[in-house]
Amino acid sequence: MPARLAAPRYQLRPYRLRLRHPLRTSRGVIEVREGYVVLAHEGGLIGRGEALGFADEFPHTPAARFALELAQLDLQAQREGIPLARLLEPRAVLTVPASALLCAEAMPELAREAHAATAEGYSTLKLKVATANDYARAAVVRDAAGPATRLRIDANGAWEPAEALRHLRELAPLQIELCEQPTPDLRGLAGAPIPLAADEMVASDPDGALERAQILVLKPMQLGGVMTALRLARRAVQHGLSVVVTTSLEGAIGRAGAAHLAAAVLALGAQPAAGLATGRLLAEDLCADPLAPRGGVVRIPDQPGLGLPP
Ligand SMILES: [Mg+2]
Repeated sequence: MPARLAAPRYQLRPYRLRLRHPLRTSRGVIEVREGYVVLAHEGGLIGRGEALGFADEFPHTPAARFALELAQLDLQAQREGIPLARLLEPRAVLTVPASALLCAEAMPELAREAHAATAEGYSTLKLKVATANDYARAAVVRDAAGPATRLRIDANGAWEPAEALRHLRELAPLQIELCEQPTPDLRGLAGAPIPLAADEMVASDPDGALERAQILVLKPMQLGGVMTALRLARRAVQHGLSVVVTTSLEGAIGRAGAAHLAAAVLALGAQPAAGLATGRLLAEDLCADPLAPRGGVVRIPDQPGLGLPP
């Protein structure tokens, strides 16, 4: 029987990371990400977690619980000498296709960004909608990326049902893979010509999301941890839904947690590309990131724990 270890000692380190360019969403413009790193020290090992928000909220928000749990799981995976993804799910698939989020505002830049992401190897692109000129912007992306690229859109719950149906019918000829959260609760959208994904509503109404969406977007940092997210992913797959694991623009540690979860979810079956390519939006980061997508694919390091450098 292994010797009983002392409980980990926790340490919080606040951070502030600038974005490369301001990111416009239907809820406003994001320019910096503020949060904190959670370090769990135990027996010479250090487990790491990360949360957006402020350290004085620890551990009372879903993001804080995610960070605490991630630090503990990182420690446990290190003790067992396996990648975190394999701790979550022994059959985890360590190569995870990722989608690229397009951020450019002006049309020529948007076309260049879509073309560059496709050339880099991304086969799925994502565009925020419910801003001005949705159709024209999506058409520019479709043109630049070509017919083989999957294009998904995200309205962040900004539309009313009738408005959403009108926009979705207009956008459907552009071969849209899915629309994230066209309305706040996905009610009244029967007959929508584009598959519907639940995102923001998943945390508050998981049953409604399972009932009305074809795809669940799971952000473990908003669900209170990767274990909760993994349980929800299993329920979703049992209900015949697909699962898209994404970050909410964290630093390298939080993103790595989401990437390991996405790898575990792939053990349940093939899924749409995960929203893991968000590190490229940051001008600075918490550490070097071996999990950054290359050729549109995240490769989980075959190393104990999160697989991040110190
Ligand atoms: Mg979304």
